[in-house]
Amino acid sequence: MAPIDALPPLREVIRRHGLTPKKSLGQNFLLDLNLTARIARAAGPLDGVTVLEVGPGPGGLTRALLAQGAKRVVAVERDARAVAALEEIGAHYPGRLTIVQGDALEFDPRSALAGERARVVANLPYNIATALLIGWLTEEPWPPWYDALVLMFQREVAERIVADPGSKTYGRLSVLAGWRSTAKILFDIKPSAFVPPPKVTSSVVHLIPRAAPAPCDARILQRVTEAAFGQRRKMLRQSLKTLGVDTGALLQAAGLAPTARAEDIAVEGFVALARLLAR
Ligand code: SAM
Repeated sequence: MAPIDALPPLREVIRRHGLTPKKSLGQNFLLDLNLTARIARAAGPLDGVTVLEVGPGPGGLTRALLAQGAKRVVAVERDARAVAALEEIGAHYPGRLTIVQGDALEFDPRSALAGERARVVANLPYNIATALLIGWLTEEPWPPWYDALVLMFQREVAERIVADPGSKTYGRLSVLAGWRSTAKILFDIKPSAFVPPPKVTSSVVHLIPRAAPAPCDARILQRVTEAAFGQRRKMLRQSLKTLGVDTGALLQAAGLAPTARAEDIAVEGFVALARLLAR
């Protein structure tokens, strides 16, 4: 396959900028530009699209996104060592790469988007991946500032995001993702593709925000799922007691069996409970 750009190989970039991977920053770099191109392709046609990338590191995915025509990439990276490497990419694609050095958990993308819609594409640092996803799924106002999320997670987290009721992996993250998005796993990437290789397989997940999810307070929904899945083997009439309400009356009003367990309840059931609790 032809090189995606005239920039140097990522191994050389890493060596020249002293980007020895740090475990504390969840740094598992993808150096195979065919693979980063595959992730960028999975994000759909990018012409005219502004992309938010969290954790560009040495810039393998950043390069693929720009090579595939993204109008602009806003790249938020915590590691100051990566900035010089990213600036070289920016020089190759003048005016199309905005580098933000800082913590993605503290960063409000709207400040960099000026009202524009964006797409989030990222090989996420595993230690904050779930926190970032929860933040994006609980955005207000809704519909959010992004039109899709294309994200790499550890396979086990990806399975929890897309799980259906009745499955072992169905839980708090599945309910939140199912409430506000349609989510699917696109493909897996094996550990040996990364430097250094992580212990587990990774998966790329595609989430599209629902245009009109049932209105519900995200914080209350999370309180309900925390109570229900916190004791997932117990019946709801027992597990929901931590909410401090009459669980029998609450479940009856929601049309749910008091003997049901958290993993039997579809997203709509949890939303119904959250709406009743908000009254
Ligand atoms: N995108 C690169 C790739 O695919 O090779 C690197 C991915 S690596 C799994 C995660 C990246 O997230 C690292 O570059 C790391 O420095 C960065 N990172 C870790 N914590 C961060 C945070 N709180 N905010 C922004 N970036 C962070």
